[in-house]
Amino acid sequence: MKDKINGLALSINPYRENDQLAKVFLQDGRLVSFVVKGANKVNGKNKLNELSSYLFFFDDNSLKDIFTLQRRQLNKSYYEYNMRLLSLKLLLLEAINKFKIEDKELYNNLIFVLDNLKDDNAYKLVCFLLNDLLKRNGNQIYTSSCVECNNTVVVAYSQNRGGFVCEKHYKNEDISDLSILKKIRHIQLVDQTNVLQLNEEYDEEILLLFLAFIKEHCDITLSAYSFYANVSNSDRRASVK
Ligand SMILES: [Zn+2]
Repeated sequence: MKDKINGLALSINPYRENDQLAKVFLQDGRLVSFVVKGANKVNGKNKLNELSSYLFFFDDNSLKDIFTLQRRQLNKSYYEYNMRLLSLKLLLLEAINKFKIEDKELYNNLIFVLDNLKDDNAYKLVCFLLNDLLKRNGNQIYTSSCVECNNTVVVAYSQNRGGFVCEKHYKNEDISDLSILKKIRHIQLVDQTNVLQLNEEYDEEILLLFLAFIKEHCDITLSAYSFYANVSNSDRRASVK
């Protein structure tokens, strides 16, 4: 008897002489690690690449949470030659790895985002998934009223207080661009069925806002961001030539 299940390779590292150590997000929501024996041998058959989804066949001791890979079939590689999209995808994998939330709907949403990520919706879909992670982690950006009182007439977003504020509780350092507030609110209200129809422009600024919130309120730093920032700066330099 063999167990088979789809999963996405989150990170792959060399291990011992010829093996790989794989961290994988399985379709049933489990985050698992296992050794892929002989993967780096010349004729290694089961070699895994990160950002690829596979159908994994495990030996039946996997029921005891000791995963022994028997073989795998590639479903799809999400690798990108567009460096900006690649860096955003790696950022999502890092977020999944670091939040460590085991949930099959989250897996579903991640695959949806990877399947649909394109140049014109990349920031929107990345913010959608980061918000989804925050929601499952129990600390979304607070948007239903002012974080300090119940006033639903809000004028700004406060990074250090983690949500919207009313006029009375507004401080100079807060972000008072109402279009940004709307975007934060709207990305919280959509789900997989209607996020693509959300026709607002999400840009780098709003992604940075989510990353700053995650750092401050979840104590999680996403280091794939520095790769992303380098790519995005070189894009910018290229565009003013
Ligand atoms: Zn208030």
